[in-house]
Amino acid sequence: MTLDAAELARLDRAHIIHPYLPGSATERIVMTEGAGCRLTDTEGRSYLDATGGLWLAQVGHGRTDLADVAHEQMKKLEYFTSFWDFSNDRAIELAARLAELAPDPLNHVYYTSGGSEGVEAAIKMARYYHHRRGEGSRTWILARSKAYHGVGYGGSSAAGFPLYQEGFAPMVPHVSHLTPPWPYRSELYDGQDPTDFLIRELEERIAEIGPENIAAMVGEPIMGVGGMLVPPADYWPRVREVLDRHGILLIFDEVVTAYGRVGEWFAAQYFETTPDIIVTAKGITSGYVPLGALLVGDHVAEALLREQGFPMGYTYNGHPVATAVALANLDVIEKEGLLARATTIGSFLHAELQSQLGELDVVGEVRSVGMMLAVELVADKATREPLPLDPERMPHDVIRRESGVIVRDSAHSLVLSPPLIMTEAEAKEAASALRSVLERTEPNGR
Ligand code: PLP
Repeated sequence: MTLDAAELARLDRAHIIHPYLPGSATERIVMTEGAGCRLTDTEGRSYLDATGGLWLAQVGHGRTDLADVAHEQMKKLEYFTSFWDFSNDRAIELAARLAELAPDPLNHVYYTSGGSEGVEAAIKMARYYHHRRGEGSRTWILARSKAYHGVGYGGSSAAGFPLYQEGFAPMVPHVSHLTPPWPYRSELYDGQDPTDFLIRELEERIAEIGPENIAAMVGEPIMGVGGMLVPPADYWPRVREVLDRHGILLIFDEVVTAYGRVGEWFAAQYFETTPDIIVTAKGITSGYVPLGALLVGDHVAEALLREQGFPMGYTYNGHPVATAVALANLDVIEKEGLLARATTIGSFLHAELQSQLGELDVVGEVRSVGMMLAVELVADKATREPLPLDPERMPHDVIRRESGVIVRDSAHSLVLSPPLIMTEAEAKEAASALRSVLERTEPNGR
């Protein structure tokens, strides 16, 4: 059955419930092909993918080498369980490889099919670790406003946006939210050094709840959905020191930041901070097939593996096709030098955005680490008041319609997380597309 563009759009509207799309929306962009940073839709229109899908297409679209690996693996062993004492060769090879890439002592791997499953597993692991060690009162989870941790009940409860909680209550109890590190918004810190303020708040919160009641703190090293919020360099090391003093685990949600996005395998390395658990997904396969992996410290694994072991599993734990593709994807990242590439092309794109947009009235700040970039939009540069956005004319939609460049809106910032293979010409194209729309955008958002 070959359906034409109009029929596909009609059937989509009739049958697919899209995340975050109202039923009244008529437009559909139906993608059919991808190659490198480019996508093509059913109308034959070409797009520049400056968001890397949902922040994950590290090696770019349309790699036949990854497709071949999936094909070969499916012919050999498409699936068997990893429950109990069953395993498979690809899952083992990938686990050993991840243990090598991750900072010590993160030598153990727990597989999932994506980021949300990973966050749920990490929160359960943290509570269970304390339970196994005879500290069952440690149930509280510290999180931050503006955080995004996927859509499971644990992750939605830890999320720092009301959108993920309104209408879904009751949420998971015993979650407490702290102020996010967002140096551009210095008003959040009462005129103090942001890290000093945040560390004092953390200490006070721990004292209020009681350290003996807190299991873990969960945080994205750089907040993605919150608008690519880059913390000061001393934030994570100082958070780690406080948590260590109180026996509280640190979970890094690196669903976006891992596998080259920030120029290192993990943002833990960029911030020189070793958490107890790292949650990863997305870039582990560049999106070719769904997979997630938690990297777990020796001390945590030791507690989880006592007695009957860790009592939760997903059917697709250690899926052989997904882990085979992940291995091939990591090979590409390594062989093509994409960690270094993320830093050089990321700096180039940052410089382009800064020079093309920096002077515009509606641009408050351009910020980035590697290939995570944001342009924060303001109504007034001096007061940094957020730009009121017209839902009918959201800048990212206008940019896509006018130029075919796909960027995303995140909490009053335009965010970019392109494939790490982006060329300099494509980086210039993306920056010009933003400029042509933002230079016409008034401080009232029109
Ligand atoms: N955690 C973070 C930081 C994310 O950005 C995301 C997705 O964007 C998730 C978790 C959820 O991952 P998934 O959509 O694969 O469930």
